[in-house]
Amino acid sequence: MNIFKKMEEFNYEQLVYFYDSETELKGITCIHNTTLGPALGGTRLWNYNSEEDAVEDVIRLARGMTYKAACAGLNLGGGKTVLIGDAKKIKSESYFRGLGRYVQSLNGRYITAEDVNTSTKDMAYVAMETDYVVGLGGKSGNPSPVTAYGAFMGIKAALMKKFEDSSIEGRTFAVQGAGQTGYYLIDYLLGNNKFKEKAKKIYFTEINESYIERMNKEHPEVEFISPDKIYSLEVDVFVPCALGKIVNDKTIDEFKCPIIAGTANNVLEREAHGNMLKERGILYAPDYVINAGGLINVYHELNGYNKENAILEVELIYDRLLEIFNIADSLNISTNIAANEFAEKRIKQIKSLKNNFIKR
Ligand code: NAD
Repeated sequence: MNIFKKMEEFNYEQLVYFYDSETELKGITCIHNTTLGPALGGTRLWNYNSEEDAVEDVIRLARGMTYKAACAGLNLGGGKTVLIGDAKKIKSESYFRGLGRYVQSLNGRYITAEDVNTSTKDMAYVAMETDYVVGLGGKSGNPSPVTAYGAFMGIKAALMKKFEDSSIEGRTFAVQGAGQTGYYLIDYLLGNNKFKEKAKKIYFTEINESYIERMNKEHPEVEFISPDKIYSLEVDVFVPCALGKIVNDKTIDEFKCPIIAGTANNVLEREAHGNMLKERGILYAPDYVINAGGLINVYHELNGYNKENAILEVELIYDRLLEIFNIADSLNISTNIAANEFAEKRIKQIKSLKNNFIKR
């Protein structure tokens, strides 16, 4: 594997390998871009099939974080850590304190947090060895309700763009996944929001029996649909809150909704699917813009956490999406490409701003 070639492709700044024989800690941190600030991104623990797979994953995810932070208007760069191992066997205090020491060695260029297979409990061990960790218990808390709230605001922006009316009232939704974020998002759509707006009808799909039971018990009016039938429902908004790559060559012709907007990451299998949605008249809310609520929330930990301020900033997802939809319109490009351009423009402008020396 030619690592430098990969780093050159998207201008990666740094790729750091670390290892500890005692705990079998094996990890890679990638810092993609720090123009806007320190690189922030969670630590993912996964039993990768190969070192190449781990590198591919960490560089892809780190770059995604750069775009996400840039679009969210945060002074953060993009980074990520992957740990190679079996989450069921490898976790221990010394394992995560070891990770903390490597994070500290980067001297603030990279800030970590929880991600797939790492928890606030694990991050508490990391915090024993480094100042550069967020998402700790007792601070910004569980990011999922805030991510869901950001997506709720994003859905309102998409409704505004499509129908010149942002209200949830009278609208219909198909939610894929009622896990952490989907569950809270359904709650907002059911009227538990400051606008007191309530959806006309919500359908949901799930593969986890206990989540299906929970929904049936708590909100029997939310109708279960089998996973393969969800794409073709005639609703106003399809809300992806489960897997990535759900807009693909197989599903793209199934959608009968005018809007796709939800919390899931990597919704499009390929960037080109964004253009295909555009051609079909479906408005797509770019994933890393609409699901940035959790990141915005955790960012506020860096400056002394204040929930009210964090939520106000999460609500700006509404304005940001409208801006991106308008850029897409004016340039006649897909919304996912418009989001990339929005992020790249901000990075370029701030980089240029820093050209002249100012003493502070
Ligand atoms: P989660 O695992 O709690 O929920 C996802 C749910 O989708 C699960 O309950 C799972 O059973 C269900 N699911 C999986 N495959 C399915 C299928 N084929 N059909 C129907 N349901 C299916 O995860 P989450 O935290 O809610 O995250 C959901 C998505 O949002 C992911 O893509 C995640 O990367 C993204 N995201 C989450 C956050 C956050 O704060 N949690 C932040 C940003 C992005």
